[in-house]
Formats: sequence, structure tokens, C-alpha cells
Amino acid sequence: MKRVLITGAAGFLGSHLCDRFIHEGYEVIGMDNYITGDKRNLEHLEQHPHFEFIEHDVTKFVAIDGPLDYILHFASPASPIDYLKIPIQTLKVGSLGTHNLLGLAKAKKARILIASTSEVYGDPLVHPQSEDYYGNVNTIGPRGVYDEAKRFQESLTMAYHRFHGLETRIVRIFNTYGPRMRLNDGRVIPAFMGQALRGEDLTVFGDGSQTRSFCYVDDQIEGIYRLLLSDYVYPVNIGNPDEITINAFAEEIVKLAGTKQKIIYKDLPQNDPLQRQPDITLAKKILDWEPKVDRHEGMKRTYAYFKGLPKEELYKIEHKNFKDHIKQ
Ligand code: NAD
Ligand code: UDP
Repeated sequence: MKRVLITGAAGFLGSHLCDRFIHEGYEVIGMDNYITGDKRNLEHLEQHPHFEFIEHDVTKFVAIDGPLDYILHFASPASPIDYLKIPIQTLKVGSLGTHNLLGLAKAKKARILIASTSEVYGDPLVHPQSEDYYGNVNTIGPRGVYDEAKRFQESLTMAYHRFHGLETRIVRIFNTYGPRMRLNDGRVIPAFMGQALRGEDLTVFGDGSQTRSFCYVDDQIEGIYRLLLSDYVYPVNIGNPDEITINAFAEEIVKLAGTKQKIIYKDLPQNDPLQRQPDITLAKKILDWEPKVDRHEGMKRTYAYFKGLPKEELYKIEHKNFKDHIKQ
């Protein structure tokens, strides 16, 4: 039986990855310190004979007994609101955390896949974004803590590949959504859906002309799984190229919710990318992968998930775990 370590396992993507690898017959070790994650995302795996959970902060030395075949490093705050609240933790998990996991992969002779992001392209001057674009990032802006940690992560990963011959994979994930996102994580989909469910106005930042391209979680997990098992070492974009303005998206959510609330406008956060759309030519070619779930279907499933959560979840403003990490 192959053994895989998944960091960020209690988070949105990490928990779906745990499910996928259990389903494929792997022995899975999940690791998380719950800083932005939630125990409940893994509750259903607690008693599974092939699942083990280790509560640990990956910025500290990571020790695992026994062999490992694969490591998927997904630990990191991922929402702009989260990483503004815990900026130093964000820089540390992308740099120190990644270093620890690359060291572990080297010691175990394991293949490692690193979760990078479309944010390495910053506020892109090239559209759509293909992997050969170097990006446009403000190193000292508020988003720099995330963007630069992820760029450093990519550089360190390639150095381990080139210098130590480590088997590495890098996925550049574009906005992905679905069940198990935290309702209060501040990203646009949980934000709009939470507002719709509470009967509040939808808050569009800026004039709403900025674009995003949303990928359903099942498609993202399939792309990541294929990339891990491929022999391609350079970064690969995984996302859904179906691009929409945030304004048009807010209108879709109002329609989906069947409610009548207004759309109101707030200030655009600093360095908020004005456009984002993945060029997935490479993923199509080397992974024979493309997204299958359209936005209409994916949003229906996600809204049903949020609607089914206990009522009190709707009114939680702050994530309770931040207070434990305030010193960072
Ligand atoms: P998430 O916040 O739901 O999950 C991240 C998990 O990492 C959380 O459970 C958190 O507690 C854990 N974590 C953070 N710091 C840690 C540390 N020091 N030690 C141990 N665990 C730690 O976010 P997500 O959307 O699931 O994102 C997962 C990964 O994918 C991140 O690396 C993120 O940068 C990347 N990514 C996600 C998206 C997306 O659209 N969802 C887009 C681009 C990149
Ligand atoms: N956004 C918005 N209202 C919200 C939350 C986000 O208009 O309540 C906008 C945000 O400014 C950005 C887009 O939606 O232009 C996507 O934001 P998100 O936080 O999901 O992630 P990003 O793609 O910026 O990393």
C-alpha cells in the first residue's frame, strides 16, 4: 500500500485530497494545525483504518515514522482576508514549512507536489495567464506575504529538484470553490453565498469589472491527482477558463438564491488583480485534463452545502483559531 502525507488536510482542498487518496487505496496521513482549517472537514475519516491525523504546525520540524511515497503540501492560508490577518504565519508556511517538507521528501525519497497559485502572476499584464508568464507582483503590498511566499516556494522546490534530484511537481491553482470552504473565510463565493443566506446585500469590491475564473473542486482534485502521477516537473496551471466579472457573478448568485437583495459597492482592496483567467493548454496536453463541471452546476452544489450548515454557522464572523496564533 502506498503512503501519502497531505499537509493542510483539515482545509478545503486538503480534505478533498484526503478523500481522493483514500478512495484510490492509499494509506493517508493528514497534517494540520487548524489555523484556517476545520476539524469537521475530516470527521468522516476519523475511524478509517487507512487514515491517520497528526496535529502539527509544518513551520516546525516535521517527523513521520515509516516510509512515504508522496507528499502533497497544501498547508497555507489561502483567502486574502485570512492572510492579511496572519501575514507572518503565511510567509512562514510558504517558506519554512515548504523547506521542512522538501527535506522530509528528500529523506524519505518521496515525490512531493507543492500547491502554488495564480497569485504568482500578481495583477497580470498578460491575459490569459500561461505558465511562461513571470508575473506582476508588488512585493511590499498587503498581498505580497502570500504571493512572495508562493514564489519562493516554487524557487525552493525547483532548487531541490535540480540540486538534489528530488521528484517534484508544482500546481498553480486558480480560484477553486465547493463544499467545505469556510463560510467566513472572506473569499468571494462563501462571502456572497453567506450574504444571500442571511438576506444581506451583496458586497462587490471596486466597480465589479474585475474578472475571475472559477473551478469546481472535483475538477481541481482530478487535475492535481493527474499531475502528481505525471512525469512533468515544471509548474502547471489547473483552473477553469470560464471567466466572469464579479458584477455579473453577484447577479448570478442573487438569481441562484432566488432572493431580492441589492448589490452594494465597497472599496477595491489594494493590488486586487483586475483580471484572471488560466490558459490550460499545457494541462490539456500533458495531463489530458480539462474541467467538466460548469459554473451553474458547481454553484448549485456549493449553495446547497452552505444552506445545509447549522444556522449559527451563518453568523460566525471571526475564525476562532486565529486568536491561538496571534503571536505567530
Ligand atoms: P484552507 O485555508 O481551507 O486550507 C489550508 C489549510 O492549511 C488549513 O486547514 C490550515 O489550518 C492549514 N495550515 C495553514 N498553515 C499551517 C501550518 N503552518 N501548519 C499546518 N497546517 C497549516 O485553504 P485551501 O483553499 O484549501 O488552500 C489549500 C492550498 O491550496 C493552499 O496552499 C493555497 O495557497 C492553495 N490554493 C488554493 C486556491 C483555492 O482557490 N482554493 C487557489 C490557489 C492556491
Ligand atoms: N470580492 C468582492 N466581494 C467580496 C469578496 C471578494 O467583490 O465580498 C472580490 C475581490 O475583490 C476579488 C474577487 O472578488 O476581486 C475574488 O476575491 P477572492 O477573495 O475570492 O480571491 P482572489 O481571487 O482575489 O484571491
